[in-house]
Amino acid sequence: MPMSPDFQHRLSTILPRIAEHYGTPFHIYDEAGIRETCRQLIDAFSGIDHFKEFFAVKALPNPSVMKIMKDMGFGFDCSSITELLLSRQLGCSTDDIMFTSNNTGVNEFRTAFADAGCILNLDDISLIDKLDKMPETICFRYNPGPRRKGNDIIGNPVESKYGVSHDQILSAFSLARSKGAKRFGLHTMLVSNELNYEYMVETARMLLDIIEDISSKLDVPFDFINIGGGLGIPYTPDDKPFDLASMAKEISALFETFKSAHSWAPKLYLESGRYMTGPHGVLVTTVINHKDTYRRYVGVDASMSCLMRPGMYGAYHHIHIHGKEQEPLREKVDVAGSLCENIDKFAVQRLLPRTCEGDLIIIHDTGAHGHAMGFNYNGHLRPKELLLKEDGSIELIRREETASDYFSTLNFEPDAIHP
Ligand SMILES: *Cc1c(COP(=O)(O)O)cnc(C)c1O
Repeated sequence: MPMSPDFQHRLSTILPRIAEHYGTPFHIYDEAGIRETCRQLIDAFSGIDHFKEFFAVKALPNPSVMKIMKDMGFGFDCSSITELLLSRQLGCSTDDIMFTSNNTGVNEFRTAFADAGCILNLDDISLIDKLDKMPETICFRYNPGPRRKGNDIIGNPVESKYGVSHDQILSAFSLARSKGAKRFGLHTMLVSNELNYEYMVETARMLLDIIEDISSKLDVPFDFINIGGGLGIPYTPDDKPFDLASMAKEISALFETFKSAHSWAPKLYLESGRYMTGPHGVLVTTVINHKDTYRRYVGVDASMSCLMRPGMYGAYHHIHIHGKEQEPLREKVDVAGSLCENIDKFAVQRLLPRTCEGDLIIIHDTGAHGHAMGFNYNGHLRPKELLLKEDGSIELIRREETASDYFSTLNFEPDAIHP
């Protein structure tokens, strides 16, 4: 079932007033729903001594939402300098930030070490020599290659640019140890939007096996394993929800077994993005045109600059029309934006109730990788973001872009050379 039904209920009576006050298009997020998902995650893993979620900032890089995560005791998974800066602004300490980058540049490492620092997750063995200093805690991202399959979305690990290969992993830890690292972590990320929880259980099993093996060969005390993100959400009405409880139960059992065999167990880290906020956000847009040519088009005031997933991946986002939830699905339409790309469609040949100009269209599940993937191609501007708070009030948490934002990078000191 796409979009949290509680959110839909909370939004239904107040949506016209919100649209009237703020204007469309906008993404709106549901604080109560986000907190509920955070609590479910914490409860699910309550059997593990040390569990911590590092919210994947790229899914929804808005400080107001990140504050909720921090308040729930979560850290942040960052993959760029800007994401690091965003997390630091919230007053995070070293252990609250996991910096997982790929093809990392020296500048990124300098920022990673600056201020409160972070937990550094290295993506390659060659990067060890590029660090100004070896931090006390170091993690490596592991790529199992042919040992695992990955899911359809993320692809085959052998073709993936991420991570240290199986043959290099022992040397990576050994080298880091010789350079002064004292505590160690092992990370991997093998699936994306996966609804079958067993992948995550397999990943936990795989990482526990590897640290067991490495610990028997090297004196490297493992502090944690990080099983990555990739937990899926049901985008279509037929998708079954991710079975969080079963995943947590089976992973907890693996930790139990590990602990009884070794009388210690690592901490468990997760860096989920989509699962945490995806169903708790929607894009609200207004019908502005109808066009009947070879197909019927419903033209809306948002474009794929607000939400790239349908155009880029052909991803399904469920749609309903405010006030017409019970009406029969009478028309097969394409719901289109105004970008000069034919992929700028939120839905293709979708059955919807008959629409009128001025109808509010609610595009579901945009709380993760939605606004964040917005862009400026064709001079299109990114929309505002709103938060429906637990007390029922609405807060603007990011304004829409304006033409002057677009022009701001054209405002600079002249700089020309004649080489
Ligand atoms: C994108 C990403 C995540 C989050 O993925 P979700 O599918 O949103 O859970 C976590 N870790 C890393 C390294 C990522 O690149």
